[in-house]
Amino acid sequence: MVLQSSQIEEFRGHFRGDVLLPGDNGYESARKIWNGMFDRRPGIIARCVGTSDVIHAVNFARENSLLIAVKAGGHNSAGNAVCDDGIMIDLSLMRRVNVDPKNKTARVDAGALLGDLDHETQLYGLAVSGGGIVSHTGVGGLTLGGGFGWISRRHGLAIDNLISAEVVTADGKLLTASADENPDLFWGLRGGGGNFGIVTSFQFRCVELGPQIYSGLIIKKFEHAKRYMQFHRDFVRGLPDEMTVWMVVRHAPPLPFLPQDVHGKMVVIIPFVWLGDEAEGARLIQPIRDATPSHGEAIGMNSWVAWQSGFDGLVEHGARNYWKSHHLRELSDGCIDRVIEFADSMPSDEIEVFIPHMEGAPSRVPDTATAFAHRKTPFLLNIHTRWRKTQDDEPCLAWARDFHQVTEPFAQGVYVNFLSDEGEDRVKAAYTPEVWDRLVELKKKYDPNNLYRMNQNIKPA
Ligand SMILES: Cc1cc2nc3c(=O)[nH]c(=O)nc-3n(C[C@H](O)[C@H](O)[C@H](O)COP(=O)(O)OP(=O)(O)OC[C@H]3O[C@@H](n4cnc5c(N)ncnc54)[C@H](O)[C@@H]3O)c2cc1C
Repeated sequence: MVLQSSQIEEFRGHFRGDVLLPGDNGYESARKIWNGMFDRRPGIIARCVGTSDVIHAVNFARENSLLIAVKAGGHNSAGNAVCDDGIMIDLSLMRRVNVDPKNKTARVDAGALLGDLDHETQLYGLAVSGGGIVSHTGVGGLTLGGGFGWISRRHGLAIDNLISAEVVTADGKLLTASADENPDLFWGLRGGGGNFGIVTSFQFRCVELGPQIYSGLIIKKFEHAKRYMQFHRDFVRGLPDEMTVWMVVRHAPPLPFLPQDVHGKMVVIIPFVWLGDEAEGARLIQPIRDATPSHGEAIGMNSWVAWQSGFDGLVEHGARNYWKSHHLRELSDGCIDRVIEFADSMPSDEIEVFIPHMEGAPSRVPDTATAFAHRKTPFLLNIHTRWRKTQDDEPCLAWARDFHQVTEPFAQGVYVNFLSDEGEDRVKAAYTPEVWDRLVELKKKYDPNNLYRMNQNIKPA
């Protein structure tokens, strides 16, 4: 639909933030998202600074039949935060975090980044569990999909710590969703993504944390990868929830504590976080050191805020990215063999195979308590394919797809936040059939015309 300039001027007149059209100052930077694969050009970018702007933009889009893309942190690898034509409702200027230290809660505007959240909550020695591992990820998308992080095994997913959300529904109404108000909407927001409305703010429960935590990295030699992984899969499942140990297979970054000849070599990185006494953490981690030879390690008391942004440099904005993922039912020998085989043939030095251990507090929440359905699987296999040049698209995409396919026999479901644009069946795979049916009913109720469809879409029929 072609809009008249008078319509745009009228829209601008009611808008507190910026309304940007192609060619306007700031348009080019506002349309950019984390994944450099997406070079889309919205017809309008509505840079909201408050709830009223969001309502106004939703009404304007609906009345003019505009496709809506919602951008919070702009981090999602599927690229749904930006559309061609249509309107980008950009929440990224809404980054306020208000902490209530007495009640240990935080009210967070929907465009805040995880780094904003850590920065403000740590002022009071608090943190929000489930708040990811890269500080430039958005709270908005992360929370609506589930949200896990270093302390979620102990304290739950972001959605398990969500008290309420303010939501602009497709008809332009502002609703509160909580256990007491619109509980069906509250259920669906916790895992159903952006399907039911635009959240303008979240209220979270906080936990006491830091400012220092015992944490670190152990860099294992790849030649012993199979033996290490066989040890790892059983060992980490026996650890207390206060200890989170993950696994990353990749080419070694130039870490200062590694000998120079290891930089760029294939390695198995074992990062961990321990919520407790340093000596006890060291005792618990010792078997990992002993399991197989290492190239080096950096372990100690680290500031929580620094740890939370310690990996940012490996995933900065702009590179080309393609993610394939699933939850793993088992990290069996067969699965380990496939991981090692595909690690050996990585088409780019920046690719990571990320295998976090997920069990703990999230798995003790009943499967249908929220829309986040796959809570019991022990591991995730996340194939972070990342490269720079367009001419490498084909080998990188093919490698990721093949790797994903050969590990399907070991998989069960997928985390909706790690999906690329993979079609409805894959969106369904993020949910159990029971949860999916409930989500469809909810979509019919809150967004019967599928106004919010640029997402991992749940169609109303
Ligand atoms: C490098 C990297 C590291 C990551 N690490 C983790 C991690 O540790 N743990 C984890 O759980 N996930 C992680 N993720 C996945 C992350 O949770 C998703 O990519 C998430 O969608 C990012 O949110 P965003 O707001 O930045 O994204 P955006 O791209 O802005 O949003 C993604 C989609 O969510 C919807 N959306 C976002 N905000 C709103 C809103 N306020 N109202 C309605 N709909 C909205 C929209 O449909 C939008 O298209 C990581 C991703 C990356 C790229």
